[in-house]
Order: sequence, then C-alpha cells, then structure tokens
Amino acid sequence: MKRRNDSQAERVDSIVDPGRRRLLKAAGLGLGSMSLAGAGIIASTPARALATNARIVIVGAGAAGLATANRLSSALDGASITLIDRRERHLYQPGLTLIATGLWKAGTVIDSNQRYVPRNVDWIHASVSEFDPDVNQVVTDTGQRVDYDYLVVTTGLHLDFDAIEGMSPELIGREGIGCVYDNPENASRTWEMVDRYTTQGGVGLFTRGPGGIKCAGAPLKVIMLTEDLAQRRGTRDRLQMIYNSPSAGLFSQPDMDQFLKEEFPRRDIDINWHHRLIGIEPEQHRATFDTPDGPVRLDYDFIHVVPPMRAPDALGNSPLAWQEGGFADDGNWMEVDRHSMQHPRYPNVFGAGDCVGTPIGKTAASVKAQVPVAVENLVSVIAGAEPMARYDGYTSCPLITSRGQAILVEFDYNLDMVPSFPFISPYREHWVPWIMKDKFLKAAYNAMLRGRV
Ligand SMILES: Cc1cc2nc3c(=O)[nH]c(=O)nc-3n(C[C@H](O)[C@H](O)[C@H](O)COP(=O)(O)OP(=O)(O)OC[C@H]3O[C@@H](n4cnc5c(N)ncnc54)[C@H](O)[C@@H]3O)c2cc1C
Repeated sequence: MKRRNDSQAERVDSIVDPGRRRLLKAAGLGLGSMSLAGAGIIASTPARALATNARIVIVGAGAAGLATANRLSSALDGASITLIDRRERHLYQPGLTLIATGLWKAGTVIDSNQRYVPRNVDWIHASVSEFDPDVNQVVTDTGQRVDYDYLVVTTGLHLDFDAIEGMSPELIGREGIGCVYDNPENASRTWEMVDRYTTQGGVGLFTRGPGGIKCAGAPLKVIMLTEDLAQRRGTRDRLQMIYNSPSAGLFSQPDMDQFLKEEFPRRDIDINWHHRLIGIEPEQHRATFDTPDGPVRLDYDFIHVVPPMRAPDALGNSPLAWQEGGFADDGNWMEVDRHSMQHPRYPNVFGAGDCVGTPIGKTAASVKAQVPVAVENLVSVIAGAEPMARYDGYTSCPLITSRGQAILVEFDYNLDMVPSFPFISPYREHWVPWIMKDKFLKAAYNAMLRGRV
C-alpha cells in the first residue's frame, strides 16, 4: 500500500467533483449499503404492524435507542413504548474525530434527540439508576419505578477517566492534553492542542484504552491525521510521535493490523507495545504507563488520552451484566447472545449498541446492523414465535489515513473482511471512503436514527 504524496493530495480535490456525482448516485441507490451498512443482518421487515398491548421500555436514547424506538413504533400497533434518557442533545459521535483534527466545527455534530423520538413513544427525561429484571422493572434517578413486559437496553458506555490517576475530562484542552472521545466541546479543545503541537513540535504520546472501546479506529485516525497535518505544515521533523498500544497489536482485524504495523514505521511513528496509560501529571507533562517491565514514565508536549471504557454503572452492576466468564471481568458489559441480541437469562430483554458484550462492534455501523435484529427478534417473541434474526458481528470503520484518503474496513465476527462495495478495495487507501466519511455518513446515520435504513 502506497502513501499518497503531496501532488496526489493536491489532486484529491480536483478528482472529487466528477467522482462525487457517481458517489451521490451510489448513495442515492442505498445509503444503507455504505459504511453504516446492513451487511451483518439476517432479518426481514414485517409486512404489517403486529397488534399488541405490550409495554416496552427502551433505556438510552442514543444511536441504538432512537433507531430501536423508530423501528418498534412502526412494527407494532397498540404497544406502549417508553424511552428513558436524561440527555436532550444528540451527538453524531463519528464526527468528533474530524473536530479534534480541525476538519469540522463542533456545531456540526450537535442535534436534538426530540427530533427523532416518534410521536407514539413516551420519553421519560431521567436516567435509570437500577435495573431489576427479576421483577421486570427499572428505577430512575428521580425515584420513578417503571414496569415493562419487554426491555431494550441501549445505554452506550462509560468513559472511565478515573481509571487514569490524575486525569479528568476538565483537563482536556490544557497542559497539552487532548481526547477525541468526550464531547464536541472537548473535541474542539483537543484541536487547539493538536494545532499547537503541529506548529511547535515536541514529543507526542498517543494512547489507547485496553479492551473494548468505541470506534477502535479513532485513536489511529487521530495520530495519522496529526502526522498528515504536520507534513502539510512543513513541521513534521519537529515532532516525535509515539503510539502506545496496551497490547501487542494495533487493530483487531489482522490485515489492517499488518497494514498499520508497516504504515506507522513508514511515517516515522514509533510504537511502544504493552504500554497502558495509568497516570498523568498534567503540570509536569508526564504520563505513567503500565508495562510488562513495571511502570514507565514518559514526558510529553502533547498527549492523546484514550480512557478505558465499560458499561455504565447502573447496567454493569445489575443482573443484566455478564456474571461469570465472557465479559464479567472486562468492561462489565451487558450479556446478550451475540447473534440474536437477546439476553440469555432474561428472554424478554434485548440489547444493542456500545453497552453489549459482543466480541467486536461498538460502532454506529454495528448499531445499524444490530438494531433491526434486536427489533425483529423482540417482535417475534411478542408474537410467540422463535427469534430467528441473526447479527453476524458486522462492524465498519472508514480508517482515515490522511486528509482525503481512507480505507473502508468492514469485517465480521470471524474477522473476515466483508466489503460492501466491489469497486473499493478494503486493503487500499482510496478517496471514496474519505468522501463518505466527510460528506455522506451523517445523512446515513440520521436515516438510521429514523429507522429508515
Ligand atoms: C470519536 C468517535 C469516533 C467514532 N467514529 C465512528 C465511525 O467512524 N464509524 C462508526 O460506525 N462509529 C463511530 N463511532 C462510534 C459510534 O458513535 C457509537 O458506536 C454509537 O454512537 C453507539 O451508539 P449507542 O446508542 O450504543 O450509544 P450512544 O449513542 O452513546 O447513546 C447512549 C445513550 O444512553 C444514555 N444513557 C446512558 N446511561 C443511561 C442510563 N443509566 N439511563 C438512561 N439513559 C442512559 C446516554 O445519555 C446516551 O444518550 C465513533 C465514536 C466516537 C466517540
């Protein structure tokens, strides 16, 4: 795989226009087959709504919760559907990477949940503090007990900044500290840090939380876009860039892992293996890593902090979380059957999105594939039928390697590549996945929220 050189970079804009027409046509034919694809679903759309008076509660109104609410509200006739979430604003999280690297403004990713809540769905503006599946009840932090016949859990995940000694989200945008994961405001502050670093230079430490994290490509995109920016600014020789992997790999999909292991040295990016960030001393600009040889302290001018991630406490401490084996000791994720999205111990409970313990996933693309399966299986269970729809682990990431270029990585539980587009190689950088990420995926995402793709 060859890196795009500067003259190629300049040509990107000129080749986009004719290509964009073709891409728009392709997108018009079906946004659902783009990166937020439906490749991982074996499910069918019910011909007409099922009449039922079932009480269904959905906890979490993010990507998975809103998509679930919209699909259920058209699949069922007469059901009482309640959505519970305190958050009013909706964040298009895949855009945070582009904000943190100066390509988008923060406002681009901010929307309102209200716009996507169907009219026949009640919205309780509170958080669930207790899940009690033995009595089919959830309790909100305002003390309201809500009974259900069926439950769908879509709480997303918790960014565990506290697991890094000395770190808190308030530090993002100060003392050379950035983090792409938190929210648009902190992504903008991260951009201020990246902007300064790629101007002044120095040592940059790039980290990754261990275990399951959402969009595992994001830490890699941040380092590659930062490197690309320094090249464009003519400051690259002032930057020493070090990627600190908590394991012996860079990416779970083996072909992509191999590509990155060759790409980083080619771009003069050093790699520290088995380096897990455990502490930060902001004023000293020093970070501590857990390594097989004991704690190692490294000084930095810029650090990209990626915290460990786990299920939100209310879910992780509930009987719905993995109790033994599986993910019991790793993230406290919700237990689901990886194919049906049904809880194995509570068959009237389903889960989707970042909160579930599936071996891969935690992307909006996985949400796009999981939600139709969870909904179809829930509708089957309500109808007294077997849940037959299956999720095959589909996940996807437009892995941005530089401004104007990305690799469309799509794979499943077997870690096999499952490309949606025959004309885009999943092994090569290409301008089409970049345009998709920059221009089209947000529209596809919004259509997913409305249950349309
Ligand atoms: C920097 C970044 C880059 C990304 N890039 C990509 C990409 O390129 N491609 C891609 O496909 N995906 C990407 N993603 C991942 C994608 O955004 C997430 O996987 C997706 O948003 C997960 O949806 P979700 O509904 O599970 O969680 P969320 O969308 O996070 O929603 C969870 C909701 O649950 C609510 N909640 C939490 N706890 C409770 C509770 N106790 N009670 C009630 N409500 C609760 C929250 O308030 C929130 O509204 C990226 C994410 C980030 C952060």
